[in-house]
Amino acid sequence: MTQAGPEDTVAPVRPTPGTGGGLPSPDDAGALHETVIGWYHRHARDLPWRSADRTAWAVMVSEFMLQQTPVVRVLPVWEEWLRRWPTPAALAAAPSGEAVRAWGRLGYPRRALRLHAAAKAVTERHGGHVPADEEALLALPGVGSYTAAAIAAFAHGRRTVVLDTNIRRVFGRVLRGEALPRPSMTVAETRLARVLLPADDAEAATWNVAVMELGALVCTARSPRCDDCPLAARCAWLAAGRPAPEHQPTGQAWAGTMRQLRGAILAVVREAHHPVDLEALVRTATGTTVDLTGSDTDGGSSTGTGGTDSSPSGPLRTLSALGHDEARVRTALDGLAADGLVALDGAGHGRMVRLPD
Ligand code: SF4
Repeated sequence: MTQAGPEDTVAPVRPTPGTGGGLPSPDDAGALHETVIGWYHRHARDLPWRSADRTAWAVMVSEFMLQQTPVVRVLPVWEEWLRRWPTPAALAAAPSGEAVRAWGRLGYPRRALRLHAAAKAVTERHGGHVPADEEALLALPGVGSYTAAAIAAFAHGRRTVVLDTNIRRVFGRVLRGEALPRPSMTVAETRLARVLLPADDAEAATWNVAVMELGALVCTARSPRCDDCPLAARCAWLAAGRPAPEHQPTGQAWAGTMRQLRGAILAVVREAHHPVDLEALVRTATGTTVDLTGSDTDGGSSTGTGGTDSSPSGPLRTLSALGHDEARVRTALDGLAADGLVALDGAGHGRMVRLPD
């Protein structure tokens, strides 16, 4: 990252008289726009969902994937999805299980099912065109207020308030002197974001993505690089000596969690190309049997994890190493089935696990 030059820095924010303090004046807002958008044009990453020839569908897929997954992990999966399913109609015509399989290791795989359901809704209700209207977007499966705003802004260039974690953090630090945003969005934050939004549609869309990019690359949660920041001269948090946050993010545990177990089971099913024997899967997950390609199955094909190769595949080995007890494994399987991420066929000891249709 290039050090911010003198042309990048601007004066501290002055509150607008009569606003109760805290809200920037129009002049200050204009200076912020110029500074941050200028920085964005010089430093933004070249991401394919921002390219001039992007489609609204490409943006929509990226927004689903980026909700809880970093850009670097999203990129190859996004490219594969757009290659396989270049339109909502193409994805809608595929089995939902293929969406789950192609989601790979992005995590939170219910997003794959929701994106598939959203593709169907776009195809059926909107003739295959991702709508620009936020109300219509909000009515799609898996689309919440943030995603609707992001699609309207980044796919269609609409003027709308987009507030993700990065934007909230930058606004909180620069204008309110707060180290980290509160766990829940406040009315004051939304009002501030609305006041700051440029009047012009295209500039508003660029402003949103520019602040987001500044938060992702410079004003990061753990290691803000204030020396490289174009807003350093006007940042209230920096001026206050970078005080500690009032509340610490809790962070999400992974090791030993049900989420980890579900992910490991789903990885085995996802990478199989045949239904997987449920009881053999349970034995593997409890560490009783490491190799599902042995006599417990039909010679290997029932697990679909590499035929009759005697060495267990990566997903099998990972699942076996977790060593959860049987009741927990069955709970995880039932949960995956209840969420529609896997389907269970047959009964008793002949039950098979597969991706959904
Ligand atoms: S000066 Fe530091 S804390 Fe303030 S916006 Fe820039 S990177 Fe963030």
